Amino acid sequence: MVEKFDYLVVGAGFAGAVLAERLAEELGKKCLVVDRRDHIAGNAYDKVDASGILIHAYGPHYFRTNSTRVVDYLSRFTQWHQVTYRVLVWTDGKYWQFPINLNTFEQYLGRSSTSEEMEATLAKWRENFPNPKNSEEMVLSQVGRKFYEMFFQNYTRKQWKRDPSELDASVCGRIPVRTNRDDRFVSETFQALPRDGYTAMFRKILDHPRITVRLSTDYRELPPTVKYDRMIYTGMIDEFYDFSEGRLPYRSMRFEPETLAREFFQPAMQVNYPNDHEFTRVVEIKHATGQKSPVTTIVREYPQDFGPGKEAYYPVPAPDSRQLYEKYAAKAKQEKNVVFVGRLATYRYYNMDQVVAMALTEFEKLKGTEANN
Ligand code: FAD
Ligand code: UDP
Repeated sequence: MVEKFDYLVVGAGFAGAVLAERLAEELGKKCLVVDRRDHIAGNAYDKVDASGILIHAYGPHYFRTNSTRVVDYLSRFTQWHQVTYRVLVWTDGKYWQFPINLNTFEQYLGRSSTSEEMEATLAKWRENFPNPKNSEEMVLSQVGRKFYEMFFQNYTRKQWKRDPSELDASVCGRIPVRTNRDDRFVSETFQALPRDGYTAMFRKILDHPRITVRLSTDYRELPPTVKYDRMIYTGMIDEFYDFSEGRLPYRSMRFEPETLAREFFQPAMQVNYPNDHEFTRVVEIKHATGQKSPVTTIVREYPQDFGPGKEAYYPVPAPDSRQLYEKYAAKAKQEKNVVFVGRLATYRYYNMDQVVAMALTEFEKLKGTEANN
């Protein structure tokens, strides 16, 4: 029996879920959302593990944004649990405040200091790159070589299997550097987690009479009886074109959870390990969710190459990958009935709020297209 939809939405992450909801609710479109994973929420998926702890299955997801449009939109589907995200780095046998701030500087000196002294010292340490071309130049121009080597060089090599000099300046440039005592991991005005978790929020976004969700379903394996007019595609763009232009690089990750019979394992929700171990960081999300329990679950993150059977978690922001991506983007532009949205489909190292904003903007464009039809 033929099943007819207005839109096929490939991927039930932020990009797909937001677009399906907008199309269904505002334009009355019938949407089929498929995801090849067995759950909704894409990489933002969270779940209660066997010990009863809510964990982020694919790495920590710290929601933050400066966009009231994005907060207003998502607030229709969730209440919020305000959190100030705090991260530490473990190196040289101790915990360091991170991102680098006046406290980090004092730890380094082993005595108290002032913003003025820190500014003056950084002015000496900084290397002169007025327009940093890559992540190495970026960090050297902000804090100089000592802190680059302590905090950035090896973490970045481990995470990306590339030297910081081979990555866009924006990769390490994501991390703020401060000369005051502000110890927030990120600087955005709104920092909060969905009160009942991401998956619960996604359930509400997708709970619509005109939205059908099918999990463990690759769109390429849908039976020919499923018909649709347009497609929203949020998967890997090179895969969509059967890698015709060559393979885009991605970074994958192995997430290893461990439950411990104690209230907390570490002093912060995230500890980064630039210079020790094969993992990059240990996340104890319980610090951020505020969950009370006598046990705790930590997740260690081991970066790995992307390949068959592995998830593509990160596009690799670098000149070579961008050049290749542009070839796919040119093809995508020719498509009349497929819209490419999200982190993998547009090959951008985007945070959740940026993906939501992108989906809302795409929706406005689609609204225009639909109105002209
Ligand atoms: P995804 O969530 O990847 O969704 C795409 C979906 O499409 C996937 O579920 C996939 O299974 C599905 N799919 C692909 N191909 C097919 C196919 N052929 N058929 C069916 N389904 C298909 N952002 C923040 O804002 N803060 C953070 O702290 C943060 N931390 C992160 C930590 C890690 C380790 C990672 C990997 C990402 C992090 N992010 C964070 C980024 C965040 O995960 C993304 O911005 C967001 O999830 C992207 O949503 P998306 O819909 O574009 O993609
Ligand atoms: N980074 C680093 N040392 C750290 C933390 C981050 O060198 O202790 C660099 C690294 O290249 C990393 C990038 O900054 O990939 C962005 O860090 P973020 O924590 O934002 O990464 P994500 O959460 O997206 O994995």
